[in-house]
Amino acid sequence: MNRLNRQILLAERPDGPLELHHFRERTVEIGEPGPGQVLCRIALLSIDPANRAWMQGRTYRDQLSEGEVMAGFTLGEVIAGDLPPGTVVACEAGWQEYAVLPAAAVRPVTVRGELSHHLGAVGVNGLTAYFGLLEVGRPQPGETVVVSGAAGATGHLVGQLARLAGCRVVGIAGSADKIRLLTEQLGFDAAVNHRSTSLRRDLRAACPEGLDVYFDNVGGSVLETTLSLMNQRGRVVCCGAVSQYDTSNPAPGPRGVPGYLVSKSLRMEGFIVTDFHGLWPNAERRLARWLADGRLIALQDMVEGLYSAPAALIGLLKGDNVGKRIVRVGPDPR
Ligand code: NDP
Repeated sequence: MNRLNRQILLAERPDGPLELHHFRERTVEIGEPGPGQVLCRIALLSIDPANRAWMQGRTYRDQLSEGEVMAGFTLGEVIAGDLPPGTVVACEAGWQEYAVLPAAAVRPVTVRGELSHHLGAVGVNGLTAYFGLLEVGRPQPGETVVVSGAAGATGHLVGQLARLAGCRVVGIAGSADKIRLLTEQLGFDAAVNHRSTSLRRDLRAACPEGLDVYFDNVGGSVLETTLSLMNQRGRVVCCGAVSQYDTSNPAPGPRGVPGYLVSKSLRMEGFIVTDFHGLWPNAERRLARWLADGRLIALQDMVEGLYSAPAALIGLLKGDNVGKRIVRVGPDPR
């Protein structure tokens, strides 16, 4: 067996926008699993906006340190240790080809359909869309649901789930191509461009009945714009704030909090997908079924090779991904 493990380290914490020189490549010997551990070979690496947020400060996990293997969610297979070889697992192995991890820290996966979907539509993004929309946003048939980051990994699923719930769906995305994709292929009723200087006017035109649920993936000025358009008793689902991740100096705000929350009786609620951990298996089954029968379309943006990961993350933060961005580190387990 190949005894070498290629890794990518966080070389330096960025002070401003992330750049290639913030990463460093290293090759080490593959580790040996000790008692209670497993050695995993990584097949797929998830590229997430949160990867950048973890560099910046305390989020729902500790801040990343300079010199450590870049953190990231992965899918792979056990090749030795305390679980049967060949077990397909979801784990946080980070940006490397092999990882020794506590057996308790890896999650065996029942593969349904394409393995890569377990990082996206039937993985964290699908679950985030599902619980964020249905449990936090609680849309009712006929209501208008708006989602930002709409052509991204989570957003394109939120919009489709809202359609399945009988809502009018409007996406906010960053290019004309993405807007076409949402309206022509994914069934969004309308979509607007957050880079337009007339975003507020465009959104108002796209939502003649106002906004009942706003699923916020981006924070910042887009969130601020939507608040003024929310209907009485609307719900703002705070899923993330990607517009504020690629900086060491996030903007304060948004303005309108608490003013609009009070005057429109809004509920603004954040969540982390792990809040719903106990409910994941049922949601995974439903998402996989909708995917299999075509009610849900999962967009994937596959990038080849571990060493492509830094550019893949930098590009994602600038919006060059469509759907779930994944780096293929090695072949799928057989
Ligand atoms: P995406 O695939 O949506 O990628 C990020 C997208 O954000 C880009 O494609 C880009 O699209 C958009 N974007 C970047 N900068 C800006 C900006 N300044 N203003 C508006 N949009 C911008 O990522 P994910 O689906 O993985 O993540 C979406 C959000 O969900 C993130 O905030 C993430 O942290 C959060 N999340 C939260 C979870 C939870 O448990 N709460 C779990 C998983 C994710 P565009 O071209 O449209 O600009």
